Amino acid sequence: MLLFTPGPTPVPENIRMEMAKPTIHHRTPEFEACFMHAREELKKILEMPEVLMLASSGSGAMEACVRTFCSKKLLSINSGKFGERFGKIAKAYNIPNLEIKNDWDTPVSVEEIINALKAQPDIDAVCLQVCESSGGLRHPVEKIAQAIKHLNSEIVVIADAITAMGVESIDISHIDVLIGGSQKAFMLPPGMSVIGLSQKAVSLAEERNIGFYFNLKTELKNQRNNTTAWTAPTTIIIGLVKYFEEVRALGGIQEVYRQTHQRALATQNALGAIGLKIYPKTPALAMTTIIDEVNALNIRKILKDDFKLHLAGGQDQLKTSIFRINHMGIIPINESLWVVNAIELALEKLGLRKFDGSANKIFLQNYYA
Ligand SMILES: *Cc1c(COP(=O)(O)O)cnc(C)c1O
Repeated sequence: MLLFTPGPTPVPENIRMEMAKPTIHHRTPEFEACFMHAREELKKILEMPEVLMLASSGSGAMEACVRTFCSKKLLSINSGKFGERFGKIAKAYNIPNLEIKNDWDTPVSVEEIINALKAQPDIDAVCLQVCESSGGLRHPVEKIAQAIKHLNSEIVVIADAITAMGVESIDISHIDVLIGGSQKAFMLPPGMSVIGLSQKAVSLAEERNIGFYFNLKTELKNQRNNTTAWTAPTTIIIGLVKYFEEVRALGGIQEVYRQTHQRALATQNALGAIGLKIYPKTPALAMTTIIDEVNALNIRKILKDDFKLHLAGGQDQLKTSIFRINHMGIIPINESLWVVNAIELALEKLGLRKFDGSANKIFLQNYYA
C-alpha cells in the first residue's frame, strides 16, 4: 500500500534503518551531539534564532504556545479543524478568544484580521495556520503577519506550520512562533513537535515561565545545552538527523522546496485536465484537495482496493466529498505520477470518463517544464 495521506507521511527506508539501531541513552555525549546537529539544521531551515523540540504531537506545541504567548486575549482563525483547535485550547485554559470563521476553502484576509484587532485592542496574540490541512488551503500568513506588526508590534504572531515546514520557504520576518511536527514533511513517525522562536518570543517565554511539562523557559535553558528537560524523543531525533542527510544528498532544502512545488502544480494541473475540481481557493503546496460530492468516496475506495493507494478523505461536513493527496517530504516522482494515473483509471472504472492518459501526460509536461 502506498501511503499518500498528508500526515502521517511514509518514513523512507534509510530513515527507518537509522532508527532501528540500538537505543542510546539521552544523557550522553553521543546523543547530545546528535541533538545539537538536529538543532542547528532546524535553525538553518527556519531561519530563526531559536528552536525547540518537544516530545508531543503537533497539538502539544500548539497548546504550549497559546499558553505561553497569549496572556490577555487570543485571535484565532478557523478555516478548518486545525484553526478551530487553537480556539479550543484557549477555551480549555479560560483564555478569552475571538475567532474569525470562514468556509474551509476560504483563506482569511488581511482586512478581516486588522479589523478584528482594531475592534478588540486587548488581543495580544494571533494564531493561524500557514496551510490549513482540513481543506488544503494556504493562508496569506506573511502578509497578515506584516500587517499585524505594522499595527502593533507587541502582538505575538503564532503560525502553525505543521504542513508547511519543510514544504516551502516561509518568510518569518514578522512571525514570532513557527510550529512544526515530525510526521509531516520531515517523514518521521509521529511524536515530536518543533517550535521556531523569534528573539521576542524567546524573551517572552523566559519572562513568563508558564506551565510544567510544556514550560518553554525550562526547555530553552536545557536545549541551549543540547539536552531536554524530560526524556527526549531520541529515536525521532536520530531520524531527523538522517532526514537532513537525505536533504543534503538531494541538493539542499531549496531543492526539496522546488521539487515539492513542481509536484503540487503538476498534480493540480493533471487532475484539472481530467475534469476534477481543486477545492481551496488558494491551494497550499503540501497537498492537493479535490472536491467531488458524488464520487470522492468511490474514487478513494477504488484507489485503495484496486491500486493499493491510500489517500485521505475529509472531516466533518467534507467527510465524503473531498480527497487529499500528499506532496510533503521527498517523494519519488514515479509515485506521484502513479497517483494521478490511478485516479484517471478510477474515473474510467466509475464510467465517468474514458481513459486516454491525459493525467500522466499533463503531469510530466508540467513537472519538467
Ligand atoms: C497534523 C496537523 C496538526 C497537528 O496534529 P497532531 O495530530 O497533534 O500532530 C496541526 N496543524 C496542522 C495544520 C496539521 O496538519
